[in-house]
Amino acid sequence: MIERKIPVTQPFLPPLEEFIPYLEQIWENKWLTNNGPFHQQLEAALCEYLGIEHIALFTNGTIALVTALQALRITGEVITTPYSFVATSHALLWNDLKPVFVDIDPYTCNIDPSKIEAAITPHTTAIMPVHCYGNPCGVEAIQKIADNYGLRVIYDAAHAFGVNYKGQSLLQHGDLSVLSFHATKVFNTFEGGAVICPDAKTKQRIDYLKNFGFADEITVTAPGINGKMSEINAAFGLLQLKHIDKAISQRQLIDTLYRDELKGIRGIYIPTQPPNATRNYSYFPILVEEDYPLTRDELYQKLKENGILSRRYFYPLISDMPMYRGQPSASPTNLFNARVIATKILCLPIFADLSTEAILTITSIIKS
Ligand SMILES: *Cc1c(COP(=O)(O)O)cnc(C)c1O
Repeated sequence: MIERKIPVTQPFLPPLEEFIPYLEQIWENKWLTNNGPFHQQLEAALCEYLGIEHIALFTNGTIALVTALQALRITGEVITTPYSFVATSHALLWNDLKPVFVDIDPYTCNIDPSKIEAAITPHTTAIMPVHCYGNPCGVEAIQKIADNYGLRVIYDAAHAFGVNYKGQSLLQHGDLSVLSFHATKVFNTFEGGAVICPDAKTKQRIDYLKNFGFADEITVTAPGINGKMSEINAAFGLLQLKHIDKAISQRQLIDTLYRDELKGIRGIYIPTQPPNATRNYSYFPILVEEDYPLTRDELYQKLKENGILSRRYFYPLISDMPMYRGQPSASPTNLFNARVIATKILCLPIFADLSTEAILTITSIIKS
């Protein structure tokens, strides 16, 4: 038997034969991209599934973030979190914007709303928080600050597919929210992404921007980009959507088993479930505290030696990367909590097909 490594995540793939009819349809339509029938169907299906009104599909989450900022004509400085995937801040640089890093709340790993006001300057125009691991940000507190200072709020909601907060889609908060459908995410279209828009007019502007700025055959309204999702990706998304509830409930079982098995281990802290919110079980983060016998990196290595690939997600902080560390807001004293969490965090493998046996192997290594 070939010994196989356990990856941190594995994409959910429906049975191949279920995808064939979609491909046949595309071959028949000969419509490969530019708002084709599957693209339109997926937009409608996602609006229904997510409980939102308007969505614009994209080729990936990063181009969706870049376009969301462009659509709202954001300028100057944008307050954001250092504790995220690097695309969050890169989207700012692509718009010639200055990221201003604000520390996180160590319990939610999200930007700490009580520290935002102190980072606002006359140049601040927006806040770009991340719903880290699908945990809702302090959306009410953030909106209040945004309203007081006339700022826009764009959520990087790459982790928050399907999350409801207080009985409504979390994606309705802020001016815009951006999803990623990358292969590693809970819901994937191989590569893909989307912007959730509050109204048809905003969606229209975003649809122009993702198609070079074309408003009609001869009118180009802005220096847009090519950010369109193709028919293949959209068709695959429609098929994925049929299986998504099952995939999420499989993840839920894994989450429960991990919690039971890891309960009460000295030095292993499992973040509590956020109140008022549903979960999509996209990640299983743990914190390796000082009273655990190994350091986080030693545990990471030990798992790796046993063929288990966990991930230090997020480490290093965005603010420690060469293109960001020169920012005054990147200073270590400004980002104390983010720095501490980045040294303790470990995301354990979680994906729909992860076997009970594999989970028990992982937890017994952590226990031993
Ligand atoms: C995955 C991810 C992105 C980027 O999405 P892509 O679809 O890979 O471009 C952005 N932000 C966060 C927080 C992510 O996890």
